[in-house]
Amino acid sequence: MKEYHGLAASAGIAVGPALLYLPDETLDSSSKLPSGPLDPERETARLEDALAEADRQLANVYEHARGEVGEETAAVFLAHQEFLADPDLLDEVKRRITVEQLPAEQAVEAAFEQFAQQLEMLDDDYYRERALDLRDVSRRVRRILAGVQDQQMLAELTEPVVVVARDLTPSDTAQMNKKMVLGFCTATGGLTSHTAIIARILGIPAVVGIGEHILDVTSGQNLVVDGHKGLVMAGVDEDMAQQYRRRHDAEIEALTCEKAAAQQKAVTADGHEVEVVANIADAQSAELALEFGAEGVGLFRTEYLFLNRQSLPSEEEQYREYRAVADVLGDRPLIIRTLDIGGDKQLPYLDMGQEMNPFLGWRAIRLCLDSPELFEPQLRALLRASVDRNVQIMFPMIATLEEVRRAREMLEKVKGKLGLEDIAFDPQTQVGIMIEVPSAALMADVLAPEVDFFSIGTNDLIQYSMACDRVNERVAYLYDPLHPAVLRLIKGVIEAAHAHGRWVGMCGEMAGDLEAIPLLLGLGLDEFSMNPPSIPAAKRLIASLTLRQAQAIAEEALARPTADEVRAYLGGLDLSRS
Ligand code: PEP
Ligand code: MG
Repeated sequence: MKEYHGLAASAGIAVGPALLYLPDETLDSSSKLPSGPLDPERETARLEDALAEADRQLANVYEHARGEVGEETAAVFLAHQEFLADPDLLDEVKRRITVEQLPAEQAVEAAFEQFAQQLEMLDDDYYRERALDLRDVSRRVRRILAGVQDQQMLAELTEPVVVVARDLTPSDTAQMNKKMVLGFCTATGGLTSHTAIIARILGIPAVVGIGEHILDVTSGQNLVVDGHKGLVMAGVDEDMAQQYRRRHDAEIEALTCEKAAAQQKAVTADGHEVEVVANIADAQSAELALEFGAEGVGLFRTEYLFLNRQSLPSEEEQYREYRAVADVLGDRPLIIRTLDIGGDKQLPYLDMGQEMNPFLGWRAIRLCLDSPELFEPQLRALLRASVDRNVQIMFPMIATLEEVRRAREMLEKVKGKLGLEDIAFDPQTQVGIMIEVPSAALMADVLAPEVDFFSIGTNDLIQYSMACDRVNERVAYLYDPLHPAVLRLIKGVIEAAHAHGRWVGMCGEMAGDLEAIPLLLGLGLDEFSMNPPSIPAAKRLIASLTLRQAQAIAEEALARPTADEVRAYLGGLDLSRS
């Protein structure tokens, strides 16, 4: 048995076959020319094997797609299978191997391209689509020939697997059929890496930052992932695998009970009701959030829709995504945050320039206000998605009153245009801002009358108020949600909002932290937005407290002069185990 140790990024146990995902190689067939003379017989045999494998894959994809999207839409994969058996096309591939002496990869590329171009010349939409299909099949066959992987294989997962990768990008996880993912193991990445965040949102056990040696495992090898300990084991005997399977089953059973209990509202023992909602990244995580007892969504991070692609998503594409999430939520609140890009999140197709201090630079609302071509389509898509749904719009990184007013002006302008175009939207759509810049926290009394709600983004508020980069381990000692300076800012924001009859939520990680919840409750926080798997325990904790107790806790905690003393005080209460 071999053990691999890493960071415990997302709790839970997974047992199952590994899928080694290494998409780094490209499909450039010229870089893969075999050395020495070409053996046409061998190339033809490789071709036949690849065609058989492609056929097998497509049959699987078809079956899966039929269940998911219906017979009619799935039929495209049957058409792909037909290309693999087209005698004229295959003759042409083989001719290029034997006569032109091309390796199988290049013969496939050339022959399929020739047929695709012939179809395109027919100048008809139907045939143009078929040309695209041909190129798609060509890529699949060449991928198999070259042993190369790409995101499509993640989208097409039909069997449960533990995904092992160097790291996963937002677009990898966006494409992935996450229902088939038992666990994640990555060579790189820390607790705030994308893989770790997504794993926690989805409740998938994950170990990250293991080191390159985890890439020695082979696809199909049975793995045990212990996301509690940050441990991965390969080659475990059947007895041990069985033990872990039993632990996994027990955890799932407990989780099922927790999820059922979490469908109750979040009410304190003396009847004070708060909202416990979820942070999500897409429609799949919205479904999961409801299972975990979310009463709505407090933060939908839209930037995942914009990252790792070659061009901006169109208004239509955005509308479809927002509407899909809104449909999952029904009449529950759905707070969608406008694009929070810049800082450490760069769009490859948008030149944002080099900055000395990207976290303090041209990002989020600053960039959007300067870029109507980016902002307006998003606002249009959000408004359109609001029809008969409880969609609320939230602006990130607000630092000044002028920014709020400018953002609202742009929203009004967009509403005006939609009206003229006779396009439906909800004119009462609520508008809120994130409080994550200290200037906004200090000016909360001035900002409150201008908006419908606040949501405190502690992930950034901590880094800006303590002047410590949130991803720099060397200054991590400063990055503390329980620092009295942070607590005072939070208290001030809640009081200012309430004085103006506005409600206040929190969508930074602190909102789901069991140590902090009693204190936040006592400070009067109205809405707690967190990763879905944190919801059941948060609701249980809230139900175990009275508001009066929580208020006393907040008062005591805020009287402590250092973060350590606040922590020691809260830890001494031993509430989080209830
Ligand atoms: C925050 O800053 O607290 C927040 C929720 O936003 P993000 O983590 O996406 O920056
Ligand atoms: Mg933020």
